[in-house]
Amino acid sequence: MITTGDESLLIQQIDAVQQRTQELYQNVRETSQHHPLLLLDCLAQLQVALEELYVAEQELRQQNEELIAARQAAEAERKRYQELFEFAPDGYLVTDIHGTIQEVNRAAAELLNVAQKHLMGKPLTAFVPEEERKAFRFMINQLQTVNRVQEWEVRLCKRREALFDAALTVETVRNGEGEAIALRWLIRDITVRKQAEAQLHQVQMQNLQLLEADRLKNQFMATMSHELRTPMNAILGFSQLLLRQFRQQDNQQLVTMIERIVKNGKHLLEMIEEILDFSRLKAHRLELQLEAFDLVELATTTAEELRALAEQKTLNLQVHLTQPSIPMVNDQVRLRQVLVNLLSNAIKFTEVGSVALKIWELPEGRVAIAVSDTGIGINSADQARIFQEFWQVNQTTTRQQKGTGLGLAIANSLVQLMQGTISVESQVGKGSTFRVELPRRVSPL
Ligand code: ADP
Repeated sequence: MITTGDESLLIQQIDAVQQRTQELYQNVRETSQHHPLLLLDCLAQLQVALEELYVAEQELRQQNEELIAARQAAEAERKRYQELFEFAPDGYLVTDIHGTIQEVNRAAAELLNVAQKHLMGKPLTAFVPEEERKAFRFMINQLQTVNRVQEWEVRLCKRREALFDAALTVETVRNGEGEAIALRWLIRDITVRKQAEAQLHQVQMQNLQLLEADRLKNQFMATMSHELRTPMNAILGFSQLLLRQFRQQDNQQLVTMIERIVKNGKHLLEMIEEILDFSRLKAHRLELQLEAFDLVELATTTAEELRALAEQKTLNLQVHLTQPSIPMVNDQVRLRQVLVNLLSNAIKFTEVGSVALKIWELPEGRVAIAVSDTGIGINSADQARIFQEFWQVNQTTTRQQKGTGLGLAIANSLVQLMQGTISVESQVGKGSTFRVELPRRVSPL
């Protein structure tokens, strides 16, 4: 790049050479006839001066070329920035400090739905709805002191169209003295974002309503089942008294009728207990009563209690044990509840074959309990859902089987409370295996 200093040096050099050439010419004219030697000397000097002139010319030429190249580069750069500004995907504007448009790119013109040339000289406030103009002007005034405003959300109106939500980022341009001389604006249409935010808000509100509805439902279930349990116990108690009396009187007809009342009453009570457990678990109000017991003993006695049920359906109920005892610390009553649920489901959903309960120890102080059957099985889509509350596979056929659809949901929550896991493997038509893994010692929470 040539600086002004270089240039004046060159001019001085050329001037000096010219002057010397002039002098020489003068000398040659005056002395050529009388002093031939002097002439020769003059000619030699002229030669030197011409060579210097030639060098200076070459230098000047080169510097000129450099100057042209530098100008072209600067021009290309300016064009590149202009194009970047022009074709930027976001709307860019330059205004004076009062908000009068001086430069505008295509995206901004499209956003405002006005041709670029017609935007020049227009106040930006013309695109702000009237009721919001005062606040907009106030903000522009603030920009004299503040250097940048980020993501300022406003509503702008497109020409001949409705309002749209925009986010503005504005930067103040200052001169050397620090005076504000222009404003640079970035305008983005955030209608879609605003709509998404509104939808999200709506979904959040609906979620809250659902949570509240769920809480009310659980509360209702807890209260109802609690209220139902007391009269149910009374009905069962008195029915059993009546049963004893009619048996003594040997009144077979009434005995059969009261037996039915007792059987159905017991079933109803079981369902009420299930609902009560479920609502307690949901409200995190169920606590485990930890105690030491033998898992092998618990499993064998539970299986024995259900043997009669299996035999009614001529099912073979097997118990497989790998060792005579497995001491554990857990809630015995609740673990029995899980076993009863898995075993009675296995019996309920099996018509031919067997039901097996298997218990064995796992590494790292854990135990496994598996309940297998040769029953109807569960397809893979339903396997993922049966642990959800109220889920019953193929509702029309399973409705023939009694149940609330809460058993597995309760078992799942109980096993989680016991710091364990429950899973199922099944094949339709072949049978199912439910597997529970538990720590031998449940640590108190
Ligand atoms: P319930 O037995 O009261 O309907 P559960 O939560 O215990 O409720 O079981 C949910 C559903 O899972 C059952 O209705 C049944 O469709 C399915 N299911 C559970 N255990 C078995 C099993 N051993 N074999 C086949 N299906 C089963």
